[in-house]
Amino acid sequence: MFIRKPRSVQQKMTAIIFLVSMFVLVLTSLQFVAFELKHRRDIAYDGIGSLARLISTNAQFPMTIKDYVGVGKLLNSLSARKDVASAYLLLPDGRSVADYSRAQNSHAFIDSAKELKFLQIEARQIAEGLQLGAEQAWQEDGRLAYFMPVTYQGGHVGYTYLSLELMELRKHQLSLLLGWLLAMGAAMLVTYLLSIRLQHYISGPVEQLVARMGQISREKRLVGFVPKDTVDEFNQLFHGFDEMMRALQERDQMLELHRKNLELEVQVRTRALEIEKEKAEHATNAKSRFLANMSHEIRTPMIGVLGMADLLRQKDLADQDQHLVETIYRSGEALLIILNDILDFSKVEAGRLVIDSVPIDMALLTEDVTRLMDVNAHAKEIEVVLKTSGDLPIVEGDPSRIRQILLNLIGNAVKFTDAGKVTVSLSATSRFTEGVCDYLIVIQDAGIGISEEAQARIFDSFDQGDSSTTRKYGGTGLGLAITKELVQLMGGQVTVESRPGEGSTFSVELPMVLSKQSELALFAKKPSLPPKPCLAQIAAVALPVASGARRVLLAEDNPTTQNLISILLQQMGIELTIVDNGQEAVDFLSNEKVDLILMDCQMPQLDGFEATSQLRALGVSTPIVALTAYARAEDEQECLAAGMDDFLSKPFRQSELKDILVRWLGADALSQAPAASSAH
Ligand code: ADP
Repeated sequence: MFIRKPRSVQQKMTAIIFLVSMFVLVLTSLQFVAFELKHRRDIAYDGIGSLARLISTNAQFPMTIKDYVGVGKLLNSLSARKDVASAYLLLPDGRSVADYSRAQNSHAFIDSAKELKFLQIEARQIAEGLQLGAEQAWQEDGRLAYFMPVTYQGGHVGYTYLSLELMELRKHQLSLLLGWLLAMGAAMLVTYLLSIRLQHYISGPVEQLVARMGQISREKRLVGFVPKDTVDEFNQLFHGFDEMMRALQERDQMLELHRKNLELEVQVRTRALEIEKEKAEHATNAKSRFLANMSHEIRTPMIGVLGMADLLRQKDLADQDQHLVETIYRSGEALLIILNDILDFSKVEAGRLVIDSVPIDMALLTEDVTRLMDVNAHAKEIEVVLKTSGDLPIVEGDPSRIRQILLNLIGNAVKFTDAGKVTVSLSATSRFTEGVCDYLIVIQDAGIGISEEAQARIFDSFDQGDSSTTRKYGGTGLGLAITKELVQLMGGQVTVESRPGEGSTFSVELPMVLSKQSELALFAKKPSLPPKPCLAQIAAVALPVASGARRVLLAEDNPTTQNLISILLQQMGIELTIVDNGQEAVDFLSNEKVDLILMDCQMPQLDGFEATSQLRALGVSTPIVALTAYARAEDEQECLAAGMDDFLSKPFRQSELKDILVRWLGADALSQAPAASSAH
């Protein structure tokens, strides 16, 4: 039979108590029953022995005097006992002188076959008794038989044979067993009920403990026990549990207090940090503003230096003078590059570098820069070669910033290489399904190389490989810092592999989005870009040129710039009118018409932005080109937002001013014939 294993402590306890009690009960009661059964059998044996002795004693004398009627009566008196089955008084030779049979004396139905069987058994037992001639007992077939000699004055005068039905004994035994079974059943029931009741004393507290733990984990709060009066182990357990809970509660409270203190401390620290951060931001902004202003202030006189030097370069000068002017011009350009780097760096620091996103042809862009750098490198007899591989799709990105990265890296490669060539490799891995393309640009040179220790630092601002490099090659140590920042802003990374004396390899990985537009951005607008390919396109959409000199109005407060532009425009055969501020420009244009306005942004009285807004409000639609020494992208945006059409950052090259004029007046409008210049 399948008995389920007890699962809970409660079931286990019930089972243990029940089984132990039942085992003890069955063992003791079985011992008692066995003893009782034996005792009853002994009584039956004793009983038949006594009865046979009584008959033998009473039959001594009648048997001696052969009073067989008397012994017959003696045996008949046995009818009073229901358990006597048969009795015989026998002569020493075995002949029966008197007999008694309950079957003969009873009126009940007699099973003759059974009686016959009994008679046979009796005959056999009597024969055995006669043979031995001594007391004997048998238990056979549900009867107890006894054989005893009848003696008188020391001699055998006959024998008594008596048989008793064991029915009564059996009945007794049966009722005893039944009673035992019933008692066992009742005991089982009582034991079971008691074990359930008793186990409660043990499992109850355990259940209570389990329930309390469940409550704690459910409600997420510590709950103790109600103290009990008992002093048993369970109470000690609960007491211990309560103590533990109390300790936990205290610890929680301390932690909570600590947390609150910590929060407070964090708040105080955060506030302090915020103040520090604000201060730092303020300082950075101030620094950035200072750098922007400084660069603006330096740019303004630079326009005079560069512009005039450029004009002088074109004059027919003696060789020595030409060399002096060239030196002034090149130094000015170098200074401008440094100025641009510092401005970019200030933007990086202020987190104001914005990355544009327009369609670009990376192959064309890289080729442009490579071509430009190749021209510069020829002076050092170094060759810059471009290797492209694979499909190079049109992507979205910031062409001027990518150009800046390329210029920096290729510029460095050329700068730090004294012989050999610089290889620029361009490849791309497109994932058309995902709409992205990973560009890889590798610039490899055969130059001086970089030590491992220096490689870890060169991407930091103002860091240069070593001081001897600075002495020999110059530079500010900003190029790679700006490059790294730009690459990271585009989501890419720049790495270097190099060994001193064995050249360097800079790799730029740029993850880019594939362009959906078919037309390309006009990326050749910045000062350093070669304007040729774009100019061709622009010229095609330029305004129709009217006959006669075109009129240009210059609103500019700086006399040097006025002077320079005046000379340049005069050379190009353009009629120029100069005003000193925005207000004068508005006044002038309310009566006069010009073909183009060159508008400085920072002017006294009325600045370029305000003047442009007023002119546009007055319905003047003449193209306005902003002239400003602020070279930031947001400055350009501000100019366009104010209603201006184009942007020229100071100092500009002569060619850049020419490009602007070609763009807005048409190539035909420019001639070398001198034209009048007037100041208003
Ligand atoms: P700069 O060139 O103005 O000093 P950069 O940030 O561009 O500043 O470069 C930092 C330093 O890294 C350089 O001074 C030079 O020591 C080292 N470096 C950069 N590019 C190369 C190169 N191609 N070969 C050798 N050294 C290089």
